[in-house]
Amino acid sequence: MAIQTFPMTIAWQKTIAPGVKQIALTKTDGSPLDFIPGQFITLHFPSDDKPIRRSYSIATIPGTSDTIEFAISYLKGGVASEILFNIDDGAELEVSGPYGRLVLRDDDPKRYILVSTGTGVTPYRAMLPQIKHRLEQDENLQVVVLQGVRSREDAFFVEDFLALAETQPRFQFKLFYSRETLTDAAPHEYEGYVQNGFDRLNFTIDDDLVYLCGNPGMIDDAFAICLEFGFSSQQVRREKYIS
Ligand SMILES: Cc1cc2nc3c(=O)[nH]c(=O)nc-3n(C[C@H](O)[C@H](O)[C@H](O)COP(=O)(O)OP(=O)(O)OC[C@H]3O[C@@H](n4cnc5c(N)ncnc54)[C@H](O)[C@@H]3O)c2cc1C
Repeated sequence: MAIQTFPMTIAWQKTIAPGVKQIALTKTDGSPLDFIPGQFITLHFPSDDKPIRRSYSIATIPGTSDTIEFAISYLKGGVASEILFNIDDGAELEVSGPYGRLVLRDDDPKRYILVSTGTGVTPYRAMLPQIKHRLEQDENLQVVVLQGVRSREDAFFVEDFLALAETQPRFQFKLFYSRETLTDAAPHEYEGYVQNGFDRLNFTIDDDLVYLCGNPGMIDDAFAICLEFGFSSQQVRREKYIS
């Protein structure tokens, strides 16, 4: 069955880190696109050959914008990268969705551990109001977001996470740099791969639910560490950013 697509217009776009662009879309007919934080949309690019589809996690913080935002990391020669890094405001894209199951479940963990590399942090950004609400409702809940990037200049959306961490002591945000030597680390900054941060988390199998999003290599490594620790695969939700 053919996938139902609809046109969306580029409302605005901006560079948020070297090689990373944030793009905001609105439905061309003006109607809203409802989504559950953590879901993604799929873009359908015209092609004479087989269909070209690429998916992007929704980055919009609900309540702050009527647009559907996403962040794309540039891949040299990549079909979508070359189109989306050379596109003008007002251009139309064919979109389907939202899709996806990387959403906060209701199965009541005591701690959510939300791990990402690069643009993989965007679904967690969209979850921020929901996370805030859940923390207010459940005084035993804790949430930790681990973001992995190469260096300081590659980090983005950091202020959104720090804003919640400053007001909610049971929300933690930790930023890992795989290629930065820190001489003046802020309290949320660490050296190394994001999965190195697992050592300090004191995993508790009965209490923790782990989410992994972004680079497939990180996800495979982190998943293996979690299984080795004793988590079941159902306790580790994964979204690999592959074409
Ligand atoms: C559910 C889902 C959500 C996603 N969300 C996002 C998102 O929010 N932001 C985002 O930037 N991407 C996201 N992706 C990845 C995105 O869909 C595209 O795969 C990506 O933008 C590359 O597309 P492209 O057409 O530019 O490159 P392609 O033409 O697909 O690939 C170009 C070249 O790069 C290689 N390549 C493909 N992917 C990678 C990779 N991850 N690392 C290194 N080399 C690679 C290919 O093998 C090929 O050689 C998501 C993927 C999925 C499945």
